[in-house]
Amino acid sequence: MFTAPSILDSPIEYLKGVGPLRGDMLRKDLNIHSFRDLLEHYPLRHIDKTNISLIASITPETDFVQVNARLLHCEILGEKRTRRLVAQVKDSSGTLELTWFQGINWVEKMLREGDYYLVYGKAGFFNGKPQMSHPEIEAVKEAKADGKPFLEPIYSTTEKLKARGLNARQIGKLTYALISQLSEKDIPEILPANIIKKMQLISRFQAFRQIHFPASIQEYNEALRRLKFEELFIAQVRLNIVRIHRNHHSHGNVFTKVGDLFNTFYNNYLPFELTGAQKRVLREIRQDTLHGHQMNRLLQGDVGSGKTIVALLSMLLAADNGFQSCLMAPTEILAQQHYNGLTELLKDLPITIALLTGSTKAKQRKEVLQQLAEGSLNMVVGTHAIIEDTVQFSNLGLAIVDEQHRFGVAQRAKLWSKAAIPPHVLVMTATPIPRTLAMTAYGDLDYSVIDELPPGRKPITTVHRNEMHRANVMGFIRSEIDKGRQAYIIYPLIEESEKLSYEDLMQGYEQVKSYFPEPKFRISMVHGRQPAEQKEINMQRFVEGNTHIMVSTTVIEVGVNVPNASVMVIESAEKFGLSQLHQLRGRVGRGGEQSFCILLTGSKTGNDARERIKTMCSTNDGFKIAERDLELRGPGDIEGTRQSGALNLKLASLVDDRQLVAEARLLAEGLIDGDEQLELPQNAPLKTFLNLHKGKTVWSKIS
Ligand code: ADP
Ligand code: MG
Repeated sequence: MFTAPSILDSPIEYLKGVGPLRGDMLRKDLNIHSFRDLLEHYPLRHIDKTNISLIASITPETDFVQVNARLLHCEILGEKRTRRLVAQVKDSSGTLELTWFQGINWVEKMLREGDYYLVYGKAGFFNGKPQMSHPEIEAVKEAKADGKPFLEPIYSTTEKLKARGLNARQIGKLTYALISQLSEKDIPEILPANIIKKMQLISRFQAFRQIHFPASIQEYNEALRRLKFEELFIAQVRLNIVRIHRNHHSHGNVFTKVGDLFNTFYNNYLPFELTGAQKRVLREIRQDTLHGHQMNRLLQGDVGSGKTIVALLSMLLAADNGFQSCLMAPTEILAQQHYNGLTELLKDLPITIALLTGSTKAKQRKEVLQQLAEGSLNMVVGTHAIIEDTVQFSNLGLAIVDEQHRFGVAQRAKLWSKAAIPPHVLVMTATPIPRTLAMTAYGDLDYSVIDELPPGRKPITTVHRNEMHRANVMGFIRSEIDKGRQAYIIYPLIEESEKLSYEDLMQGYEQVKSYFPEPKFRISMVHGRQPAEQKEINMQRFVEGNTHIMVSTTVIEVGVNVPNASVMVIESAEKFGLSQLHQLRGRVGRGGEQSFCILLTGSKTGNDARERIKTMCSTNDGFKIAERDLELRGPGDIEGTRQSGALNLKLASLVDDRQLVAEARLLAEGLIDGDEQLELPQNAPLKTFLNLHKGKTVWSKIS
């Protein structure tokens, strides 16, 4: 289909009032290249021109305000770095000082003593007097606005652009001129009519007009909602297309049968009955691997929900069908532990399994590589040493990645190149991400969740204690040890200095030793400075119950499984993030005994830290904690969701617009499931739009 070029694709300098010089600057400073880019340069906020405050009414609590005042005096003060333009304006109630540090000459040129100005900004206070720096300022004829309600858009801009006559308001004038030239056909509808109706959205054309120049707050909100929805919907449609394409058109190994290995293990060696959620996930994996398409599945399950056994059973399924499989963990300790656990569980089955990590000795490594390449090894467990180029498989059929957030998208992609037909991929994570967010950020993956803990688990009791309670806390640990239990004591990694962390830990270790003297008590210690072998030995002693206490930095954060441990003490708990605290706490409560988590802090903690600790004490639910974490930190910080940048959102926020995210996701999924190729007539405009805006960023960032 031929599509005529749109006026919106015109280079920005062709817009009246721009020209080559300003055009150049708009490109460089604001990344505005075309008419369309200007249209999508959304206002930061609007000023209600009818809403004029008196200077005397401004207090330190006042947000942005607008005053209408006369310029009394202005002058340039200071030299070089302190050079600034200072002006006094006055209305009937008082005076206000205005200051500019940049664009001084340009502002000074436009100011005339005695004239009236509309001044807009946020005031600070100095010696009890209000001041504004870099306010928006515009000359007006009278000490009065012109009557009818009018919301004026304010845009982000730069000092350089301001000096060229493109301040926050003037960009609005350009935008106004542009929009006046446009008609409905220039901004045609792209969403299917039924979705517009269902979501009660205003038209695309209307939305662009109203987001810049609304006649009321309500009009603005309508426009915002429509454009946010569109953004989220388009992103979701794209992700779904990737997902469908992969599920239907990618080659994948077929696991035709559930064979002897799986059945023998399931019937004779499974140490417990699977939970309903574990069974469901296994069925999903079974389905995925049956159809000749590559599986790409994200498995989320809170700490302790039993993901490992699902991994093991899936690996047996691969082996039953003659395929090799690998299990990758983020740390050597965890890889070692998985290796030990799997070896133990599989010891009576005809399965060959090896460990491969960065510290595997050269000779051993050579052997493992050879066996993998010739196909005599069924399974390999390891760290990202597994995805190095030198590691070749004979027929890798399934790759499992544990605690995915430590593995980047690029690394995942590397796995696929390990075999002619890409292996099925199962990504497991306990990093609690709210479901809708996970499905948005990883929209190209299929999603499973284990939302049920194994039976008999008692909720962990979490308490907050400070330094003054130390002796008590130690006494409590002793009473648990007397009952045959074990305890963790965790120290934070101090970011600025490995040396400080180390000293902290050593000091702590000495202190713990004084409370728990040898030989009655035995203590393991694990930290980042130890060679892998040493870590492993110390860890192993704790796992086997030969030591009572594990003193450690956060190296044990993920995955470690010692069901007999019933106390987790976190030192300087205020230094940890919420999801980290939750991960650490998840190391206990893995057996049938009542477990405890004690958060130790100094006597003074900041507000955010107090909130985190309060949250930890009030819930064990990883998903609730994730929600709270999002509220406290925003999504950008959450590990594993940084890729959400791939969604390229300008207006919508995955956190604040959760409701809209969920609705967009459902509708996008439904649309693609019903019309994979977008062939239905009602989806034609959407298809045209997607083809025109291939969204390089989206396609390249998503593996
Ligand atoms: P995670 O999901 O955090 O990786 P694990 O796989 O390490 O959890 O399992 C946590 C503990 O729960 C382990 O000791 C495991 O043996 C046990 N477990 C797993 N599934 C079940 C089950 N269905 N019934 C009883 N215990 C289980
Ligand atoms: Mg695990």
